[in-house]
Amino acid sequence: MGTLNLPRKVSVLGSTGSIGMSTLDLFDQAGLELEMVGLTAGRNAARLAEQALRWRPQVAVIEDEAALPELRERLAGSGITTAAGAGAVRDVAAADAQWVMSAIVGFAGLAPTLAAAKAGAVIALANKESLVCAGPSLLRIAKLAGGVVIPVDSEHSAIFQVLDPSIAAQVTRLILTSSGGPFRDATRAQMAAATREQALAHPNFSMGAKISIDSATMMNKGLEVIEAAYLFAMPPERIEVLVHPQQIIHSLVEYADGSTLAQLGLPDMRPPIAFAFAWPDRLPWPAPKLDLVTAGPLTFQHPDPEKFPALTIAKQALAAGGRAPAAMNAANERAVAAFLDRRIRFLDIPNVVAETLERMDRVVAPMAFDDDAVESARNTDAEARRVADEVVIGLAA
Ligand code: NAD
Ligand code: MG
Repeated sequence: MGTLNLPRKVSVLGSTGSIGMSTLDLFDQAGLELEMVGLTAGRNAARLAEQALRWRPQVAVIEDEAALPELRERLAGSGITTAAGAGAVRDVAAADAQWVMSAIVGFAGLAPTLAAAKAGAVIALANKESLVCAGPSLLRIAKLAGGVVIPVDSEHSAIFQVLDPSIAAQVTRLILTSSGGPFRDATRAQMAAATREQALAHPNFSMGAKISIDSATMMNKGLEVIEAAYLFAMPPERIEVLVHPQQIIHSLVEYADGSTLAQLGLPDMRPPIAFAFAWPDRLPWPAPKLDLVTAGPLTFQHPDPEKFPALTIAKQALAAGGRAPAAMNAANERAVAAFLDRRIRFLDIPNVVAETLERMDRVVAPMAFDDDAVESARNTDAEARRVADEVVIGLAA
């Protein structure tokens, strides 16, 4: 293994979440000796402290300031520095790690991801919302700083693994696969009555609540279409979505000569994390291996646009460009939160997003780029949240 050129100094942003924990588990399983620069969490001080005692980061940061006393107490005498607040999370992202896992959920991940990009780190990007809200700027800033963004989202990792950038012009289609979520075989009437618990029950694995609801509405795939368009500079009409319930083929790239290349694996986030960690090498670790004989038949179907309007909404937002994707993302975050709070019904989620975009369309303002991207995205995000909350109140009334 001495020949592998692996990063040593790493940070994990969102370490207490589903992706964050998979990342630390992978490090453990691979027996890596790392210099942990920082671990950050939203509000789970107990889990963050436990991780910090295991990984000995220079600093452990909790975004929620109210949780700082607990974190301090749990890490008292450990020699690990603690801090709190969004600014402290950003500072960790900007510190001198060679590799940064960006696994905060939602728009909150944008500023730290941009900070890591400016610092020139290799960014393992799980936080798809940051690409959706400021993709072109994020990619340009990373490139200028000599860094690189490696997608962790399994579909984009798959495409990254099989798309040869030197012949990108000869790619005719990207095909993103989707599990179809918990309502793949449900009727629209069943979806209309769906409870929080039913919507949270992803068929193949357990993820954070927000992405679980996004999988149920298929807004997750909508966000991923936008993510793919930016990452691989592909026009929307060349990105297709196929439902593939077994989640063995993670995505495909079709070339002009009629060849289609796929990447396969078990539904497990650790292989795409391992890929992003070791790129361009391959990390040896005791990975559960795919057995095609027991995997069973692989099936595919088109998503039903009547059941999953979020896909169309996302494609329209991508085509509209400017601030539409960021507004869409914000409206979706608010709608998902409202559904999780039982304030709106399941099928209201895409309606809130569509109605928010419609109301905001009356004020046309292009997105600013590069250094102003966060500011510009933040304004759009804040405005869209306000509008979406109004729409939610109107629905709940
Ligand atoms: P999660 O909810 O399990 O974890 C989110 C992490 O972010 C936690 O550590 C949480 O404490 C932290 N956090 C939340 N709000 C924060 C804030 N305001 N400031 C700072 N930190 C905050 O989510 P997850 O499922 O791990 O997903 C993380 C990201 O990865 C999301 O963008 C998601 O779309 C993406 N993703 C997840 C999966 C998956 O399998 N879970 C797959 C692909 C992509
Ligand atoms: Mg995905």
